[in-house]
Amino acid sequence: MPMENYNIIIIGAGMAGLCAAVEAVSNNVRVLILEKENEIGGSSLLSGRYMAFANTDLQMQEGIQDSTEMLVNDLLTVGDGANERSLVEAYGQHQLETYQWLIEKGVQFHAVQAVSGHSVPRGHQITPKQAIQTLFDLANSNSNVTFLLNADVKRLRKNNEGKVTEVFYVKDGKEFNAIAEDGVIIASGGFSKSETLLNAFAPQLKGALRIGGKGNVGDGIKLAWEQGAWMRDFPFLKGTYGFHPSADGPRKSQGLVFYKGAIIINAEAKRFVNESISYKLIGTKALEQSDGITYQIWDQAIMKESVPGDALYDFDKLLDLGLIEQANSLSELAQKIDVPEKALLETIQTYNSDVSKGVDQQFGRSTLTHNFGNPTTISEGPFYGMRTTVAMLATYAGIAVDEQARVLNPYNEPIEGLYAAGELVGGFHGAGYMTGSSLGKAAIFGRIAVRTAIQNINTESLFVKG
Ligand SMILES: Cc1cc2nc3c(=O)[nH]c(=O)nc-3n(C[C@H](O)[C@H](O)[C@H](O)COP(=O)(O)OP(=O)(O)OC[C@H]3O[C@@H](n4cnc5c(N)ncnc54)[C@H](O)[C@@H]3O)c2cc1C
Repeated sequence: MPMENYNIIIIGAGMAGLCAAVEAVSNNVRVLILEKENEIGGSSLLSGRYMAFANTDLQMQEGIQDSTEMLVNDLLTVGDGANERSLVEAYGQHQLETYQWLIEKGVQFHAVQAVSGHSVPRGHQITPKQAIQTLFDLANSNSNVTFLLNADVKRLRKNNEGKVTEVFYVKDGKEFNAIAEDGVIIASGGFSKSETLLNAFAPQLKGALRIGGKGNVGDGIKLAWEQGAWMRDFPFLKGTYGFHPSADGPRKSQGLVFYKGAIIINAEAKRFVNESISYKLIGTKALEQSDGITYQIWDQAIMKESVPGDALYDFDKLLDLGLIEQANSLSELAQKIDVPEKALLETIQTYNSDVSKGVDQQFGRSTLTHNFGNPTTISEGPFYGMRTTVAMLATYAGIAVDEQARVLNPYNEPIEGLYAAGELVGGFHGAGYMTGSSLGKAAIFGRIAVRTAIQNINTESLFVKG
């Protein structure tokens, strides 16, 4: 087969790759999209559904006052200042425009929820299948696009001028190559399914479940590495707390009852953490408990906060699936979940007394999540307990890029022709993760990568489209 030429080649068809593809077709450039698996979507399809945007119509309808500045500040606070500020500011600059662009392209947002790391409710809920399919259909129906499934990218190569232009991939057992005249965009997701990379970079997460897109084994990180890319944020790899141990990805198994007021205890029935902090930080503490065993414990008043159909807060559904124990008394619950009864009663009594006084003397909990909401006592039967563990869902560490999504070498110089967007980018989140910012960053930087790559051929369309 003769080698084909495109303006842009996109590796991976998740949120980042598909937003890049739609942005590219809106600018009338020829695009090749290569997806390794036999279906599109990657981890984006499995995701918990939240995208972090500020100052939106949905927030206004709910009377939520928010601003880009607050969003940027929250990202920097949660990242403990270790984030690359220019990337966070680029997110701020393009977030509202990208939210509106997604709506214009047909992506539906249903509701706003309070989620981890935000000072106001800012988790904008999508239905991942609807979003991914809509973006795919838009891109794929354009005659400038060639879309290949089962196309596994193996290697990139620079031309004689040192620009990354050539992409080698394997499809149906045969090797192919194609040329990208204006840019190669790596959007192939993280490495939450790579035992080798997780063991190398995050041995502390050995006890965590592995959940994520099948193809998310870090190929893009290796592709960029080979071209001289610098890497960022590997020391900050963390799991996410809130999964039932039976979790495998597609099946509903996540419940963040602690952000609605549940406490978290270990096998000795003792609290060990402030439950309002990031679920990543809770995850680190949870893995340190005896045998990694922990439970969320709550009462009927908190159960009433269940949100039907929500990815994180549909506790009734988890009860129906048999993943939650229910009991008429705390003593009965202790027996059902096999923790010491006396210790559980003492833990609840101390917590309730502290909540009533307004001071959590043990761990300083004063909110439900981040700065939002007020803790309540656990006192109204029936009572509930869910065995809960940590999952490695998304890696959020990897390729260094600048605010134009250009891949950087160790001296902060762009590697010509090479761009990256989505989960495999490092430097954005810093030391902590704020819910919704991964899908958000995938969409925002997927679009930015295309706009940067094509600026030499189509300058008038840059950064002005809605
Ligand atoms: C259970 C779960 C819940 C989550 N909840 C949220 C949430 O609520 N909010 C949020 O912001 N984030 C959430 N995340 C994280 C978020 O979903 C991901 O970080 C994000 O979707 C990544 O998007 P992406 O486009 O970078 O990668 P992906 O969506 O993973 O897409 C990458 C694609 O590249 C393909 N690929 C890989 N290697 C190659 C190769 N060599 N050649 C060709 N193609 C390749 C993969 O097969 C895949 O289809 C969650 C993740 C999981 C697993």
